[in-house]
Amino acid sequence: MKKSVGKTAKAIIAAVIVIAIIGTVFTYRLYSREFSSSFTAMDTYITLKAKGVGCKDTLDEVENFVKDYSDNVLSRHIETSEVSKINANGGGTFSSGISDYFDLLLEISRESDGAFDFTLGALSDLWGIGTENAKIPTDKEIKSVLFCSGVDKIFYKNGKISIPEGMSIDFGAAGKGMALDEIKTKYLEKSKISRAVFSLGGSILLYSTKENDTFTVGIRNPDESNDYMAVLTVNEGCVSTSGSYERYFEEDGVRYHHIFDPKTGYPAQSGLVSVTIYSESGTVSDALSTACFVLGAEKGAALAKKYNCEAVFIDTEGFVTVTDGLKDKIEITNDNYTLR
Ligand code: AMP
Ligand code: MG
Repeated sequence: MKKSVGKTAKAIIAAVIVIAIIGTVFTYRLYSREFSSSFTAMDTYITLKAKGVGCKDTLDEVENFVKDYSDNVLSRHIETSEVSKINANGGGTFSSGISDYFDLLLEISRESDGAFDFTLGALSDLWGIGTENAKIPTDKEIKSVLFCSGVDKIFYKNGKISIPEGMSIDFGAAGKGMALDEIKTKYLEKSKISRAVFSLGGSILLYSTKENDTFTVGIRNPDESNDYMAVLTVNEGCVSTSGSYERYFEEDGVRYHHIFDPKTGYPAQSGLVSVTIYSESGTVSDALSTACFVLGAEKGAALAKKYNCEAVFIDTEGFVTVTDGLKDKIEITNDNYTLR
């Protein structure tokens, strides 16, 4: 009798302990009001910060989504990804993760007069910028890959795409922005998160449920990797920066960087070192930062206006040009840069 009472008491104590632990973990996850995480995916360093009920769980889901979107959808280097299979097979059917954005990408390509061109994968491979095999290709090699690229050579209807032999689709210039748009609609807007800042390399999502909430965002100093040269104070939206400092090599005093002018097949020489775009949409901010880098400040500002975006252009001389909507929202914090 005594023995069984002892056993029952022990079982009750154990059960109480287990319930207490589960309760603590549950309460922590439910009410933890601020959380941040960081990891690497999409070839870049990613940080997620959020406030609100259940934010830890949402950030875990977002991290899983970003890794999946990167490896299984957009990657050009993982053979089993959707983009790799389309490139290997000369076409295929897009999942919604791409098809939802594809018409917009085609339109930006047209509106930018081809400056934004997501068919330059073979050209990127030829230059190898950012890899051990980086080299200046011959004009003949460049001509032969440009012959197989260009959005006008794609056939696309109802989510089905076919591409010519030799073409390689590369969403490197818009993928991080597409991921931010996916995250916003599929996770943030369905969560109880009240404020979030998600930074995917050069593309940042600023999210708030409070009207007119403001965020400060640093614009990277093109000369110093861990420094910024200006601060923007803006409301919710997306901010993307493209710069010639991200991946490059130098030969005979010339910098060869990773953003190509599709018309020449050479790194774009538009007199700029960086372009920052502020837009409601991540896809637009990311694609336009690349397009405007290729187009230069004047044509870039006109393109930004067409898409209701604001822009910051930094030129090779350290002069900074800003579109009207950001004029009173930017503060230059480094004396080497001058606002025009
Ligand atoms: P971003 O850093 O967003 O400007 O994207 C740069 C990446 O986009 C490069 O590393 C290439 O993979 C790809 N890319 C380079 N030039 C272009 C271009 N003119 N249009 C679209 N994608 C490009
Ligand atoms: Mg971009």
